Amino acid sequence: MSDHVDVPEDHPRHDSLLTRHRIEDGVDRGITSRQGLIAQGRGEAYDYLLGERTIPSADEAERAAAAQLLLADHPVLSVNGNVAALVPEEMVELAEVVGAELEVNLFNRTEERVAAIAEYLHEHGAGEVKGLRADGRIPGLSHERAKVDSDGIGDADVVLVPLEDGDRAEALAATGKVEIVIDLNPLSRSAQSAAIPVVDNIVRAVPNITRHARELADAPRDELEAIVADFDREAALAAAERAIRTGGDGEE
Ligand code: ATP
Repeated sequence: MSDHVDVPEDHPRHDSLLTRHRIEDGVDRGITSRQGLIAQGRGEAYDYLLGERTIPSADEAERAAAAQLLLADHPVLSVNGNVAALVPEEMVELAEVVGAELEVNLFNRTEERVAAIAEYLHEHGAGEVKGLRADGRIPGLSHERAKVDSDGIGDADVVLVPLEDGDRAEALAATGKVEIVIDLNPLSRSAQSAAIPVVDNIVRAVPNITRHARELADAPRDELEAIVADFDREAALAAAERAIRTGGDGEE
């Protein structure tokens, strides 16, 4: 992470401070909403409690997420204003490695912000970016918050939704799509409704899912299916809670 702000390399919370500056920069560029600053603050608090590292259960979830994305017929990675500000290149790279589409999907949707995020992803190497047509709906949500592309998230079988609002994550899971959530709060409704909850900071989670996907790229289908089947979402959520409560790595 570079960015214009000078944070001393040896500062004990170097990565956390750079992450915060990226979000501020996102707000200045019009890609992140002001509510995004609040979501960032909540995330930071949980990351602090988790020791600002990828705990073993999160690494397992990231491997299962990679396998699930490789198995999918039509995987889509959802991008909101915080995701775009924090990991634009990393999302483009993951989409390439697993053959997924990128779709801009916002809780507080404005056409300007959708276009700004799509443009920002293009600047970071993305080809086609979905989310501009918004001609489909997720059932069970009010009009603006329900919008998706009918040939994007609307048609996907597996969706990665990082840093998602709880209501929308629940509504999406209820459509029967396989939902992979990245969220630092193991108690959030988003993490609780996911088939694969990844309790880790997105700045660590996305590159690690990509690394696993590269390793698994040539694995036979039955091996990928076994990785997904062996993943225990309840155990992963419990391990993250334990890590927060005990300060350990969450393992029993
Ligand atoms: P819920 O209803 O599920 O409790 P919410 O609708 O209140 O969630 P938001 O306030 O929109 O959710 O917050 C988004 C979530 O993203 C929070 O749970 C927060 O912990 C998480 N989050 C924020 N920043 C990051 C990050 N960098 N990496 C991973 N998760 C993050």
